[in-house]
Amino acid sequence: MTVMDVDEALACILAQTKRAAMQHVPLSEAGGRILAKDVVARLTQPPFAASAMDGYAVRAQDVQIFGTQLQIIGEAAAGRLYEGEVGQGQAVRIFTGAPIPRGADTVVIQEDTTLFKKNLVKINHILEINKNIRPSGGDFCANDTVLKAGHVLTPAALALCAAAGHDALDVVARPRVGILSTGDELVEAGCVPQAGQIVASNAHALVEIVRSHGGEAVNLGIVRDEEQVIKQAIEAAQAQGIDILLTIGGVSVGAYDLVQQVLRTVGMQLDFWKIAMRPGKPLMFGRLPADHHQNKEILVLGLPGNPVSSIVTAHLFLVPMLEKMAGYPLSFTLHEAILTAPLGANGSRRHYIRAHMTQTRGGDRLVTPDPNVDSSLLSVLVRANCLIVVPENAPAQQAGSRCHIFMPKGGL
Ligand code: AMP
Ligand code: MG
Repeated sequence: MTVMDVDEALACILAQTKRAAMQHVPLSEAGGRILAKDVVARLTQPPFAASAMDGYAVRAQDVQIFGTQLQIIGEAAAGRLYEGEVGQGQAVRIFTGAPIPRGADTVVIQEDTTLFKKNLVKINHILEINKNIRPSGGDFCANDTVLKAGHVLTPAALALCAAAGHDALDVVARPRVGILSTGDELVEAGCVPQAGQIVASNAHALVEIVRSHGGEAVNLGIVRDEEQVIKQAIEAAQAQGIDILLTIGGVSVGAYDLVQQVLRTVGMQLDFWKIAMRPGKPLMFGRLPADHHQNKEILVLGLPGNPVSSIVTAHLFLVPMLEKMAGYPLSFTLHEAILTAPLGANGSRRHYIRAHMTQTRGGDRLVTPDPNVDSSLLSVLVRANCLIVVPENAPAQQAGSRCHIFMPKGGL
């Protein structure tokens, strides 16, 4: 199998990635998610003509002369209707949100009035009809489509759906992602590693990447580098109803890199293995039957074990998969920046160099590459806030020249 370039690999992955199923969830769980169906209003908002201000509901024809005096016949407040009718020379004390009483067709604000006695008010303003009145249906009417499928449920969108009479919505389901760490040397975080052991740290980065991009992470734990053990873990994962299986480690060419061969024995169709990038060359992608009875497929992304490789390839390939499955627009963008230090010529693999970017007052992005390109160093990755993307076979660059950087939304 030939080594794919990064763009071909991503196109191949996205071609196999389908939007997740639909799910009906209460409003309290719908925030930030994507609407799977149009939302049609069940109610009209406002349901009645309402006052937009505190003041007096009057008849416009009665207040065409400055200083007219009107008799106050009652009060209308939010949630409390005035049942009577406003006649000639009369006014009803009204508060914001209250229904406009019958007979009244305009509202004079309190600041434009003088109260004489308990029931006599002088109107110091000349008003036209419909002033300070929110008409019925001024926001939306029953049967209006108030939101289209595909809309992100922002705070305002949730309030709109509630006002329109919905307490639950159809949203795109969260992709379920199983995360399997492989390696004889690995122990769980919090354990004291014995001779030759290290902590399986990558799963923790991946759980967070999955969660922060609309997915649901299922940590499948650690398995030893033994065919039978890996096989059992994969079969257990297949039965768990996951959409994506992420494996970590065991996808290189070493004697203990058994993940690909085991996946093939349980029916994985391999789409690619190895891409022309640095870090992350051994990345693998394929499709696995969900279980023996369904024809649903689980997408398999085999991430390299080195922490930097694992996290960088997750930002580049897993995030677009999650976004597409969960219904979000793809967020990947590159920004232009100015190098503060020279860069050597690149080889045939696209290089993602850990770097630190600062923005000048003028808006220029200045980026400093970290000289350490070892893909096992988490401290270097944490110091970085972006990756410089160096194209395949790029010549050496001077300090001051322009380059492209990638800044994952929630940080590296
Ligand atoms: P592998 O891809 O299995 O050859 O692993 C490459 C390197 O990454 C080795 O040094 C492993 O110890 C390390 N490694 C593998 N899996 C993990 C993991 N889940 N967390 C941290 N390091 C890992
Ligand atoms: Mg390994």
